[in-house]
Amino acid sequence: MTESLTYKNILAGAEQQGDDDKGYQEAYLGDHIRFKMKREGKRFWAGDNISDFLHEGDKEKLIDEATEAFETVLDRLLIDRENDPNSKGTARRLAKMYFNEIMAGRYEPEPDATAFPNDSKDRYEGMLVVRSELRSMCSHHHQPVVGVAYIGIIAANKLIGLSKYTRIAQWCARRGTLQEELCNDIAREISKATDSENVAVYVQAVHGCCENRGIMAHSSLTQTTVLKGTFKDDPHTKKEFFDNIKLQQEFAPR
Ligand SMILES: [Zn+2]
Repeated sequence: MTESLTYKNILAGAEQQGDDDKGYQEAYLGDHIRFKMKREGKRFWAGDNISDFLHEGDKEKLIDEATEAFETVLDRLLIDRENDPNSKGTARRLAKMYFNEIMAGRYEPEPDATAFPNDSKDRYEGMLVVRSELRSMCSHHHQPVVGVAYIGIIAANKLIGLSKYTRIAQWCARRGTLQEELCNDIAREISKATDSENVAVYVQAVHGCCENRGIMAHSSLTQTTVLKGTFKDDPHTKKEFFDNIKLQQEFAPR
């Protein structure tokens, strides 16, 4: 099926039914979803969340389709997945791992972060620094990125549960990303969830793509920082943030 034929079929089908979700004529659900995202100008890079375009049950179907594709990859790598007992279920394991684990943050909606009002007379107005363990993956090589994010905010009119900082950070991380991008993503999402414009994110991580291939550097550590609002404008706030990180690292070194 050519791309243009596909588009025509889908458009015709959608017009007839007035519902572009039903009766798609693609061989693969993945192609249909890709078509819809293109038509609606939705970016679907490795680090983008596309959960708005998925319906219940779609993920299972997409895992089946990816299994088929991974089987082809294994065949092209000349791995005997019929007789090698360790490679028999590998294609499905890979497909499930991508959708449910290492790229889960692309397919799952943002974690619900119930906010509590912080507007009483004795409201908390200080800095809050949360350390979140991260597992991510580089978009370039699909190699693991393992590290930790320190998320700092100056409390605004709402507070979210402490575990939510980590949940949001991990939701951003479980995609194909670049560390620089990831740092920005976490800052933006935390700012949205807390209503605070004063947010700082510092990420420290080791990259599989530097350790396992290329330069094979075992102890290379990458650090990225995003500072917004007062963290950026006020040197004292910035210093307090990094002092907090040092205290945390002394308390629980890594
Ligand atoms: Zn890489």
